[in-house]
Amino acid sequence: MQVHDTLKREETHTGTLRQLRNFVGNAYLEGGKPFPVVDPATGQQHAQAFEADQAIVDAAVKAAENAMHGEWGSMTLAARRALLHKVADGIEARFDEFLAAEIADTGKPHAMASHLDIPRGAANFRVFADAIANVPTEAFDMDTPDGGKAVNYSVRRPLGVVGVISPWNLPLLLMTWKVAPALACGNAVIVKPSEETPSTTTLLGEVMADAGMPAGVFNVIHGFGPGSAGEMLVSHPGVRAITFTGETQTGTAIMRAAAPHVKPLSFELGGKNAAIVFADADMDAAVAGLARAVFLNTGQVCLAPERIYVERSVFDRFVEGLKDKALALRPGLPTGNGIDLGPLISAEHREKVLGYYRLAEEEGANVVCGGGVPDLEGEAAGGFFVEPTLWTGLPHDARICREEIFGPCAAIIPFDSEEEAVSLANDSAYGLAASIWTGNLSRGHRVGAKMEVGICWVNSWFLRDLRTPFGGAKMSGIGREGGIHSINFYSEPTNICIKL
Ligand code: NAD
Repeated sequence: MQVHDTLKREETHTGTLRQLRNFVGNAYLEGGKPFPVVDPATGQQHAQAFEADQAIVDAAVKAAENAMHGEWGSMTLAARRALLHKVADGIEARFDEFLAAEIADTGKPHAMASHLDIPRGAANFRVFADAIANVPTEAFDMDTPDGGKAVNYSVRRPLGVVGVISPWNLPLLLMTWKVAPALACGNAVIVKPSEETPSTTTLLGEVMADAGMPAGVFNVIHGFGPGSAGEMLVSHPGVRAITFTGETQTGTAIMRAAAPHVKPLSFELGGKNAAIVFADADMDAAVAGLARAVFLNTGQVCLAPERIYVERSVFDRFVEGLKDKALALRPGLPTGNGIDLGPLISAEHREKVLGYYRLAEEEGANVVCGGGVPDLEGEAAGGFFVEPTLWTGLPHDARICREEIFGPCAAIIPFDSEEEAVSLANDSAYGLAASIWTGNLSRGHRVGAKMEVGICWVNSWFLRDLRTPFGGAKMSGIGREGGIHSINFYSEPTNICIKL
């Protein structure tokens, strides 16, 4: 089935816009209330999506349930895996369309989207198509009370219809990171992408249909959170499990909505990540690595460090080095030559980040660089840009050092001993990621094991092997994704006990 009409452009009262419709049962549905999708690099609307109402959400659940009871539910593992590889092929075949759609929604620099977001979107399907083929089955021999024998082994079943709620910062990458393992395990999914970035998820519907995915296996509903498609999805009795990436506060609302049906939850939530730079680190590597970590995607990466603890003897040198990197960043339109800093996702998010920039000064920060809005010309003047910003002089208990800002900024704080660094880094309600920079790998190992986080890098950041557990401790999440960890979430084991 070829469904190539979704991203078509239509004349509207605001110009020629892409139409992003709800995708249910391999077809784009009419209906739903239109809402604007804005290019954050220019502030101009570039598409309109259609907010799903209860009838559309019900139709998506019905389509997904029908898929589970139909061809999809009885498909062989080999056929399912082949389909997932075809989906990856389909993303790669339409790479430029995915790239353009992701860039239009996020304003992120072309180089980042083409090297990270879109390739990882395809890779996620290949990784889980392969992972599902290599899942071992546990088995236990047992003696029975009557002197006989029994054998136990477990089989895995899909959970059923899984609700996927994804954020705007890495839209295709983080959505497929959930959809791929869910489908590998034989579930059907209903995705509610972020209202800010619905384009690549909508486009994926076409790729699924073209790959031959049975109708109802992959559905997309558009809209917002509370009182809209997001809440309707998580509270729907037909949705058997929820996988969510987004803010911690949203996670608690989803938990409440899912509680009456005791739905399994997989949560990747917010963070307030720390980096620790020891005096024995390769300073050039630490500066370069942390410049990437703080400013990649304009700081809108859940793993980005917003607190950097630096051993006092190298503090000034490190601050100067990071400042030079920040000042060298060039903000602008995604396709601009040499542009490496995109906008924040929305006017609202920029207000939030600028509010923190003001708060830092109220809390006594020394502003090393940035703190405001860059002076840009042309179309970019309407974009939601902020300056990369570094602070020193903040007390460790300042709100700037405790609350997630999600912008291109960090507080840099000196420390005097390894114990002090560990205790400062761990003194947070969050526990997603950390990075340690040291020339002493024994120390890297020792400190890494003490970090109260889901993932800790030594002398690197965001270096990912997709088979490893990924997720957050404390208020940064529930459960782990990646390799077998994803498969454990998206499948239900049944123990079979056979008396011999
Ligand atoms: P968000 O929580 O505002 O929104 C995420 C999604 O949840 C959106 O699709 C939104 O429409 C939906 N939503 C909002 N309220 C809802 C409700 N009551 N019921 C159902 N759905 C609802 O998050 P965001 O602003 O899109 O993303 C940024 C946040 O995501 C940051 O806090 C960041 O740290 C976090 N994040 C975490 C990870 C991770 O792996 N831990 C990765 C990326 C982003």
